[in-house]
Amino acid sequence: MEKIRIILSGCSGRMGHVIADLAAAEENMEIAAGVDVNREGAYTFPVFKEFADCDVEGDVIIDFSSPKAFDGMMDWAEEKGVPAVVCTTGLSDDQISRLEMSSRKIAVLRSANMSLGVNVLLRAVAEVAKKLAPAGFDIEILEAHHNQKKDAPSGTAIALADSINEALDGEYHYVYNRADRFEKRDPKEIGISAVRAGNIPGTHSVIYAGTDEVIEIKHTAYSRAIFGKGALAAAKFLVGREPGYYSMADVIG
Ligand code: NAD
Repeated sequence: MEKIRIILSGCSGRMGHVIADLAAAEENMEIAAGVDVNREGAYTFPVFKEFADCDVEGDVIIDFSSPKAFDGMMDWAEEKGVPAVVCTTGLSDDQISRLEMSSRKIAVLRSANMSLGVNVLLRAVAEVAKKLAPAGFDIEILEAHHNQKKDAPSGTAIALADSINEALDGEYHYVYNRADRFEKRDPKEIGISAVRAGNIPGTHSVIYAGTDEVIEIKHTAYSRAIFGKGALAAAKFLVGREPGYYSMADVIG
């Protein structure tokens, strides 16, 4: 069987190294090339500074880089007809619209969190919210990540809030900062708070607080490998797919 050739965007980063290590252990996958503004280090594959320079053929892109790399990457993906697993967080609204446009031409999958656990959690928190919100429970999300993470709150925290809000007919709004307010919380708000400290790979808690009882549903990532495994599963899923905008829900079934 021919190996799936991955183009790894952000290959010099933390997640880039995780993907390269996991792919090396896979029989039917290989990294054909990497793209990264930082090309320092030893690699078993060619590394290009930007997608425009990449003349290596690939079957799928896995992207853990920066929103700055997004536009060049999508130009390349569309031009070559290569599907893309977009894991970079902090994309702008324009970039997300661009991805939707691209999905008419190529298969794309975007997920703020590639782990199996979080994707199951996304469904679970919506189900719990449907029961507890009408009973007057307040909903808050608390996330913690390492001190190198630039965007806040995490894409996963927003995805959890979106999943809950969708289940509640979009009636809720998000509050990221209470410091500049002097008022009681609105029952229809979801507070989202971010902690940045040490080398925490990532924790997300959804807190449902009623009168005299609190439920807290928490996911803890103990290593980045969980995101890497999900990204490789998503890459396998996308190869040979019809154009479309896929999600991890499609991958986990
Ligand atoms: P990192 O900072 O360690 O790595 C990012 C890499 O991208 C670096 O090597 C950097 O040189 C490169 N880069 C930056 N600008 C670039 C550009 N313009 N062109 C090409 N390369 C560029 O970060 P990380 O921890 O590996 O995370 C990368 C991204 O993936 C972040 O957005 C992070 O939030 C996201 N992430 C997503 C998931 C998920 O499950 N979806 C999990 C972990 C991280």
